[in-house]
Amino acid sequence: MNKEPDSPETQADRSGVTRRGFLKGALATAVIAPAIAAELSTDTAPIENAKLVADLEKYRTLGTWVEKPADIQPELEGDQTADVVIVGAGYVGLHAALGLAAAGKKVIVLEREFAGFGASGRNAGYLGGPMALEYDLFVKRVGNEQAARILGFYAAGVDFVEKKLQEHAIECDYNATGVIRAGVDPSQEKRIRDDMATAAGLGFSFQFLDQAAMRARGIPPAFLFGSYAERGGTLHPGKYVMGLRRAALQAGVKLYENTALLAFAEGATVKVQTGKGSASAPFLIFATNAYTPQIGLLADKVAPLRVSAIETEPLSAEQRASLGWPKREGIITAHWTMESHRLTVNNTLIVTTKRLNYVYGSKTPNVPDSEAYQALRVALHERFPTLPELEIRACWSGYVSLAGDALPVVGAMGAQQNIFYSAGCSGHGVGTQSLMGHLLAERILGTEDPLLSALNHETPWLPPEPFRWCGIKGAMGITNTLDDQVDRRVRERRTS
Ligand SMILES: Cc1cc2nc3c(=O)[nH]c(=O)nc-3n(C[C@H](O)[C@H](O)[C@H](O)COP(=O)(O)OP(=O)(O)OC[C@H]3O[C@@H](n4cnc5c(N)ncnc54)[C@H](O)[C@@H]3O)c2cc1C
Repeated sequence: MNKEPDSPETQADRSGVTRRGFLKGALATAVIAPAIAAELSTDTAPIENAKLVADLEKYRTLGTWVEKPADIQPELEGDQTADVVIVGAGYVGLHAALGLAAAGKKVIVLEREFAGFGASGRNAGYLGGPMALEYDLFVKRVGNEQAARILGFYAAGVDFVEKKLQEHAIECDYNATGVIRAGVDPSQEKRIRDDMATAAGLGFSFQFLDQAAMRARGIPPAFLFGSYAERGGTLHPGKYVMGLRRAALQAGVKLYENTALLAFAEGATVKVQTGKGSASAPFLIFATNAYTPQIGLLADKVAPLRVSAIETEPLSAEQRASLGWPKREGIITAHWTMESHRLTVNNTLIVTTKRLNYVYGSKTPNVPDSEAYQALRVALHERFPTLPELEIRACWSGYVSLAGDALPVVGAMGAQQNIFYSAGCSGHGVGTQSLMGHLLAERILGTEDPLLSALNHETPWLPPEPFRWCGIKGAMGITNTLDDQVDRRVRERRTS
């Protein structure tokens, strides 16, 4: 587990990334970004027709999985005390609360909106293990031995969630038929095979599905081949997070909703200030993931990225029958910025990611992202060309937290090392952030699990604005351009 964060200078020196080196990169980015933007504009042309405009108006601020709960918990008032105060009621906060409450601790959870408001209530619901991690960003940095332990943490996240669904009797449409990382163009096979080889070298094997195997499984034909992770699958993230909320309330956790942390003071007893009161405890957990930089923490380590999703109207019986895909495996693509395609139990299709976004100053406004919805709509129709009439039912966005090496950022800070934080989910949090909450609870109870120690490493330094914005937007421009090239080849192949 990480100790007090190093100064940016120390981290930059150790990681080999110097400010001068970064500035050079940022300047280069500033020069190439306009060219990339011009390139991009060909594939994200202005919204042209009324149908598209109508689809983009189906924006839902919360997505389709959760609604504000009917039993919204009261705002914190007065001065409260507890054994542990947790800020943020997503997977991390709720699992930490459950773990601590099970050990008899008095737990207060402060949530700015309501439990599940963040990414935990808006994601695509893939419960995945160590497949499709950004191995290139961290394996060389941490070395093979630690990388293998880190992959073990990701794998353990799947087992953990499966166990907790049983333990808390959470019914969330979990479909444990695994996840396929698919290629839509032959050029993606090398990337898939290289990643499979890296994972195998670290002790985690996935099965390669060639064209024949994909067709035998009934996977829609746009997905040519892929690597298959048997463990995990897809679930309803809203039912999952609301099941955790219910379990936490039943376990006696004091959840205050509509209660934002405004300030905190460290010490042997940590005190947090809210609008109408305060809460004090010997331990504090920041389970605020993408929102953490706004609290004034970890801004030099993680950046919030906006991830978007669209959902279709339910497929008719004929459309569902024509699609095949009998086991409904979760599918992600091998693009640089992946697409995810899954079916829900209501036979709607959900497509996510494809275009990420970053808002200057690490802000996280809850606003629509029309460019992303447009790209997702194109992806939907290109991967499922036999369903041209399928209507979009909703589109929404949320925020994940990304570190420079795409690994979780977890640690303790303060003179007493009694303030814990978790961020850097990198879009893999259904399993890992759930497990993270539990491991933080155990750590406070006195045991550091080797799975938590495995994550102890130096997170690369992120520069301040405006360099951060330039760097992130530049990198996104490059990956979007590479992905557009793949998609263009797919179109050419189809029309030739
Ligand atoms: C569109 C989308 C698709 C995704 N798909 C997948 C997927 O298929 N599989 C997967 O594994 N992961 C996926 N993810 C990522 C996953 O959802 C996250 O990693 C995970 O939910 C993070 O959980 P968390 O508890 O760390 O953070 P969050 O769920 O974001 O919870 C943080 C909470 O902190 C609260 N908060 C913030 N500031 C304050 C404050 N000052 N005071 C009080 N409360 C505060 C917020 O309101 C929020 O509820 C996706 C994410 C998105 C957005």
